[in-house]
Amino acid sequence: MFELELSQIEQKGLRRRLYITEPAEGSHVLINSKKVILMCSNDYLGLANHPKLRQSAREAMERYGFGSGASRLISGTGSLHCQLEERLAQFKETEAALLFNSGYAANIGVIPAIATNGDVILSDGLNHASIIDGCRLSKAQVHVYRHKDINQVEALLKINAHARRRLIVTDGVFSMDGDIAPLPALVSLSERYDAMLMVDDAHATGVLGPGGRGTVEHFGLTGRVAIQMGTLGKALGSFGAYVAGDRNLVDYLLNSARSFIFSTALPPAVCAASLAALDIVEQEPDHRNNLWANRNRFMQGLKAIGINTGDSESPIIPIIIGTSEKAMHASSRLLDSGVFATAIRPPTVAEGAARIRTTITALHTTMDIDSALNAFAELKQTGCIG
Ligand SMILES: *Cc1c(COP(=O)(O)O)cnc(C)c1O
Repeated sequence: MFELELSQIEQKGLRRRLYITEPAEGSHVLINSKKVILMCSNDYLGLANHPKLRQSAREAMERYGFGSGASRLISGTGSLHCQLEERLAQFKETEAALLFNSGYAANIGVIPAIATNGDVILSDGLNHASIIDGCRLSKAQVHVYRHKDINQVEALLKINAHARRRLIVTDGVFSMDGDIAPLPALVSLSERYDAMLMVDDAHATGVLGPGGRGTVEHFGLTGRVAIQMGTLGKALGSFGAYVAGDRNLVDYLLNSARSFIFSTALPPAVCAASLAALDIVEQEPDHRNNLWANRNRFMQGLKAIGINTGDSESPIIPIIIGTSEKAMHASSRLLDSGVFATAIRPPTVAEGAARIRTTITALHTTMDIDSALNAFAELKQTGCIG
């Protein structure tokens, strides 16, 4: 079965494989028993293996058991789910928040719930696959605008003034390019043309803004973005996702987002770990400061070597290479030199824009950064990257 399909994938150089990693100290992992520097995890603050998260999860597990046993609207809601939702609303400076089981589940549940027949969705051309799938599931008319093209957004809003509702949806930090959405311009357009604005802060939660609250805080736009989605599995080192906004939005989603209604609630221990992560984000800014210091050191180093890092403005730094084959080759050479960063190929990125997607975390030491830079310098010298 599927021999033909698999061989076609193989021929295009797009066959995917799983790397099995085991944790090692600090920023390292073991792959095939070899210790390498991990440079492609989204655990930006290094919280996934933090003692406080482990302990909170362990305590919750002892108290509540492991599974939640049912969906939220049946018997799956425990006090930790509610505590976490209140805490997330506080953190995001909104009236309310609603948990989802993952960022993917949030986007495919929220978008079809808030935009349907007679509505129009404007979606950035580089939005995450889960937003694309949310748009596909929606009965609204979908327009994909050129990446960050504010003029096109405005033109589309004008043309669609008659629609029942308009929804603009964008990644806060774009997941494959690491650039930041033009949120101030999108906010003013949404206000001028009476559109809802939804921002996906999967890569911004815990990372952007003086308090790590995300893109909205970064730009000083508190109270002006109707729908803020974010995830707990990246910088927060836990699992799950949230939507933060007005009480009515949350009540409406609880009544209509199918991925919320028809799916088993998160295990309480997962919520406990997320609560511990929020404590750390709010009380220990050093993690975020280290993250940005590391990110800036790595970026400057890459620039000095003359490597194309696109428009990155965040700890996601793409090394843009071109063909899938070249990107795969570069990734395996990097692994040989002790650096683990996977190649990202179409359809995740555009044809001809295959890349190594590096991510920097608070756990990297300056020695890690410098040895990764040496590995990249060698790839550059040997013509593996342009
Ligand atoms: C990772 C990611 C998601 C999905 O979140 P999960 O919790 O991993 O399912 C959604 N949107 C963006 C922009 C992401 O990067």
